[in-house]
Amino acid sequence: MFPIDQRKNWYSGQGRWSDVPAEQWNDWTWQLRNRITTLVQLEELMTLTPDEKAGCLFAAHKLALAITPYFFNLIDTKDPHCPIRKQVIPNIKESVVAPGESGDPVGEEGTMPVPGIVHRYPDRVLFLVTDRCASYCRYCTRSRMVSNAQSYDFHPELEQGIKYIETHPEIRDVLISGGDPLLLSDAKIDALLGRLRAIPHVEFIRMGSRIPVFLPQRITPALAEIFRKHGPIWMSIHTNHPKEITQELAAACERLSFAGVPLGNQSVLLSGINDDPEVMKSLVHRLLMMRVRPYYLYACDLIEGSTHFRAPIQKGIEIIKALRGHTTGYGVPQLVIDGPGGGGKIPVNPEYVQSIHDGIVELRNFEDRPYVYPSGVRLPDPAPRLLD
Ligand SMILES: *Cc1c(COP(=O)(O)O)cnc(C)c1O
Repeated sequence: MFPIDQRKNWYSGQGRWSDVPAEQWNDWTWQLRNRITTLVQLEELMTLTPDEKAGCLFAAHKLALAITPYFFNLIDTKDPHCPIRKQVIPNIKESVVAPGESGDPVGEEGTMPVPGIVHRYPDRVLFLVTDRCASYCRYCTRSRMVSNAQSYDFHPELEQGIKYIETHPEIRDVLISGGDPLLLSDAKIDALLGRLRAIPHVEFIRMGSRIPVFLPQRITPALAEIFRKHGPIWMSIHTNHPKEITQELAAACERLSFAGVPLGNQSVLLSGINDDPEVMKSLVHRLLMMRVRPYYLYACDLIEGSTHFRAPIQKGIEIIKALRGHTTGYGVPQLVIDGPGGGGKIPVNPEYVQSIHDGIVELRNFEDRPYVYPSGVRLPDPAPRLLD
């Protein structure tokens, strides 16, 4: 069991790759070239369960297998229930499609005016710039296109996407995602941010990336400088479990923060991985220590083959209740359900308001103690009185 209360960040060194020269290990292109992408490679490194073995063969038709050596080292290969292992090692349970599950669970295809642009909300767009990631999360909401295992044949039309944003003055916020946008070269990221920054109505630019978690070596000083130059650029990283908070990730977050990138975190509530208040509390504490503000905690989308990942929403509410008031307010993410079919993110909260009648609010605090707040009830003005 991972010591979730331990304050020091985990450092596993080069682990199985201890004979690789440090300059190669720390080179992100080496990490990408040496990713584990086949069943044979994986079985050289660990003993798989029969379900995982079958899952690796099925993955080629659903969502490719890929794990960076850095991230592989975080797996406890002796533990079939390791929370890192379950996120990236395929399982044949992914082939079971339950009622209500779909390939496009949040209805993105229906709100794509041009390939790669999802325009669901009035003032902002999601801009998908690639279909590749450094490693693949088995519960990926975009597994229909990501890694191209399902022959989606996604061709990011960057020019078309930029044109769309340029000609829609209502768009003040652009969220760059994918796939993982930080897999683009420095030159491409520089050019993309430059183009978006030059659009007068675009006020807010952010990126969603799991690269700091899968491949912290990618956050080079040169990349950080690109963010500084076009800043403010905001970034949401994606961690689910305190084991992911390593010294390498902390160093990458520091490079981003020092380049002026405000950092947030998105987690997905995952059964047997983080559906536990103590695990999530440990995670948010570690995030705060790296200047990362927990942003959203998502209910797992109804992606095909995700039944084994989905936890009851009551677990999520229980986690928020265990955090709110009990720890730093900055550490409490917003629990959301992304409305199936395309409703956008809908907040789900514990109930603190018991009733509102005639302006009287009856509340319960974090310790479940009752409070009454006379909202909007104007008391007669007392006679003015001079203070002496
Ligand atoms: C999540 C999302 C956004 C951003 O939503 P925020 O609540 O502003 O973080 C924008 N567009 C789409 C399609 C999204 O899924």
